[in-house]
Amino acid sequence: MSERLIMHIDMDAFFAAIEQRDDPSLVGKPVIIGALPGKRGVVSTCSYEARVFGIHSAMPISEAFRRCPQGVYLKPNGPAIREASHLIVETLRGISPVVEPVSVDEAYVDISGLERLIGPPDVIGRLAKQRIREATRLSSSVGIGPNRLIAKLASDAHKPDGLTIIRADQVQAFLYPMPVENMRGVGKHSAESLKRRGIHTIATLRTWSEERLIAVFGDASGRMLYRQARGIWSDHVGEHESRKSISKEHTFNEDCCDPETLRQTMLELAADVARTARREGLTGRGIRLKLRLDGFETHTRSTTLAHPTNLDDVIFKEGWRLYSTSAFCSRPVRLIGIGIFDWSAPVQLDLFDKPNERKIRLAGAKDDIVARFGKSILGIKKAK
Ligand SMILES: [Mg+2]
Repeated sequence: MSERLIMHIDMDAFFAAIEQRDDPSLVGKPVIIGALPGKRGVVSTCSYEARVFGIHSAMPISEAFRRCPQGVYLKPNGPAIREASHLIVETLRGISPVVEPVSVDEAYVDISGLERLIGPPDVIGRLAKQRIREATRLSSSVGIGPNRLIAKLASDAHKPDGLTIIRADQVQAFLYPMPVENMRGVGKHSAESLKRRGIHTIATLRTWSEERLIAVFGDASGRMLYRQARGIWSDHVGEHESRKSISKEHTFNEDCCDPETLRQTMLELAADVARTARREGLTGRGIRLKLRLDGFETHTRSTTLAHPTNLDDVIFKEGWRLYSTSAFCSRPVRLIGIGIFDWSAPVQLDLFDKPNERKIRLAGAKDDIVARFGKSILGIKKAK
């Protein structure tokens, strides 16, 4: 069996680099993309010139402005981001058929077995970077390793414009000096709890047995830490696009003429669709309404949102708007259905505004409860 080779591509200061590309007067300046100063919100990306001021992603915009009032503050340019993102994925598909975009500016590519076709990993990595630059005029960093974890850490190792290749026999040496924060699933909180126990680097983490890690951090986290410290991680790269849409529908026993019943049914269907989408990590820009009237007359109506979503109330609101503005809204309904489609890379744009971020977190918490106790706990009933 040939060696597994996973490549991770991460664009350098993506949103800021797009602005500097499209407006040469911004080259060499601290460019901060995210919320605008004076508003609530955070930095999403900033140029390398802004990082000199200590500005980084997820920093409150007010703090960024305090550090660098002379910076250029801009909101993310959605259309330009989507266009570049699309070009990057297309470019990578020209190199390997197995490409998995994980966000607007990141993707995994399975390049196992391409060595005979293209060349050794460094040739493949350089080719990817060069073709992305030709297609988008943007710079990227590439990491290649035996699995996703190592590839991702490698792409981060020499940013910007980096190319880092870690062969299987180099994994231990590569991981050893790294801080525990570099592990997947280790946030600020877990990092602190690891450090309280004297674990600052992966080298120290390696000295803990699996049993001990499980005893302290619980079953799932303990196991995950044990595996990661040894560089063991998934090497599966897969497309998320096999599913074209997610939809739910309900057929009434008798044709329904009561707007309140229809509304309630659509609310429940929208919640179902949203929950499924969140479980699968999908967000869609398209909302589709399906209506079957008496006599099996079936109609669909759809709309495109400015921002992709997987939130109950957004899906419901759009679905209900499609229904109530249609020519059929006074006719008896046999079947009503709602769905989302037109996937985009997992949304980052929407995460910048706080109300939505809260909604997304709340939705996630609700999903956990439903997964554990069933729908009835939230008073979600099956439509009748
Ligand atoms: Mg990036």
